[in-house]
Amino acid sequence: MDVRGVDAGLLQTRYRLTKQRAAILRALDGGGSHLSAETILERVREELPGVSLGTIYRTLDILRELGLVQVFSYAASAARFEAVIEKHHHLLCVECRQLVNVAAPGLNEIAQAIGTMHHFGDVDCSLTITGRCPACFGNGKPKSSNN
Ligand SMILES: [Zn+2]
Ligand SMILES: [Zn+2]
Repeated sequence: MDVRGVDAGLLQTRYRLTKQRAAILRALDGGGSHLSAETILERVREELPGVSLGTIYRTLDILRELGLVQVFSYAASAARFEAVIEKHHHLLCVECRQLVNVAAPGLNEIAQAIGTMHHFGDVDCSLTITGRCPACFGNGKPKSSNN
């Protein structure tokens, strides 16, 4: 890449972006947690007080394009973000909204077979299984919490 034409303003922008990317990745804490953009904003603001929600969304988009962040969304609920670990699927508790990462052995083969049947390429598949987690199902008293 030719960097001779890069001006100080652009470098400054890149530097800020890099700090924001790093702060978001730290907020996501290496995988396993599923955070809303608002929660990420709160955590990032502890490091970078001036950051806006719009910047968080833009930076999350970049991190998604870079393959470092993945998004989970279900029905009308707010998107939740996590650092990319290996390909996985989700169990979602419809009461407390807890999300659990799960493997689904054999699912990819099923998805590929269905895609091939319909002449689709680049087939991917994300499974969300809904239900009630042990805490919500077990005691019969649904409680609300935000994860
Ligand atoms: Zn639950
Ligand atoms: Zn996940």
